[in-house]
Amino acid sequence: MPLAGSAAGLRALEQYADPLLGTDPMPVFFFGHGSPMNAIELNEFSKEWERIGQTLPRPNAILCISAHWLTRGTLVTAMEKPPTIHDFGGFPDELFAVQYPAPGSPQLAKDAAALLPGAGLDEAWGLDHGCWSVVKHLYPDADVPVIQMSIDYHQPGQYHYDLARRLAVLRRKGILIIGSGNMVHNLRMVAWDKMDQPGFAFDWATEANEQMKRWITSRDHRPLIDFTRQGKAFDLAIPTPDHYFPMLYALALQEDKDELQFFNDKAVMGSLTMTSFRIGRD
Ligand code: ZN
Repeated sequence: MPLAGSAAGLRALEQYADPLLGTDPMPVFFFGHGSPMNAIELNEFSKEWERIGQTLPRPNAILCISAHWLTRGTLVTAMEKPPTIHDFGGFPDELFAVQYPAPGSPQLAKDAAALLPGAGLDEAWGLDHGCWSVVKHLYPDADVPVIQMSIDYHQPGQYHYDLARRLAVLRRKGILIIGSGNMVHNLRMVAWDKMDQPGFAFDWATEANEQMKRWITSRDHRPLIDFTRQGKAFDLAIPTPDHYFPMLYALALQEDKDELQFFNDKAVMGSLTMTSFRIGRD
């Protein structure tokens, strides 16, 4: 794949080189983020996020692709101090009071945009809850710079998969790349009466989630990229692709040597799965 314009980006990225990290690539994550309440609740999902934060090599910065930033074209947040965005309604005041004051990284934003054809720098977004509800548990001190990259919502799966691969070089610069969404995510079919029964899943949700895991495990990415052609269970699991695309971004960064581990592999409220994975070293 030609990487037009990437030479300048690569040179600029040298500054992130950390001798302690050597050439080992940083892991890549896909997090099923689920309810915004996971930001302030300590439950089986958020406890795992905390544990991961405590065991990861410390990144130089985080680049997050969140299901909640959909744009025309691709944007990268470039402000020094990204604001905490409370992009939800109907939740307790305690959740609206959360601030996650991690610094941005205008330089990383520029360098990342240089790797992505046509990408622009953004000064208006910040950190949405797809990002901060998870990252807050990884790094509670908000002392690792965080930038977000938007999802060009008018593009198909293949476009996102190919675009993500251009970010691969960042893994060797100590950048932690995170996709945050949900593999199975159908809000219209949520079983509200099963909120207190983690693990409850409709049959189609289980079927889609298990098939996705099989293809992920066998590294058969083609049908996952072509998710719109995989039948009824997939159509119900992905009624709109906003929460699915971040998974493709993470998956596209898997290299031959990278192992993949699932975690938080559980359904909630019938029509969502929290299934998440880690790519790369422990
Ligand atoms: Zn979400």
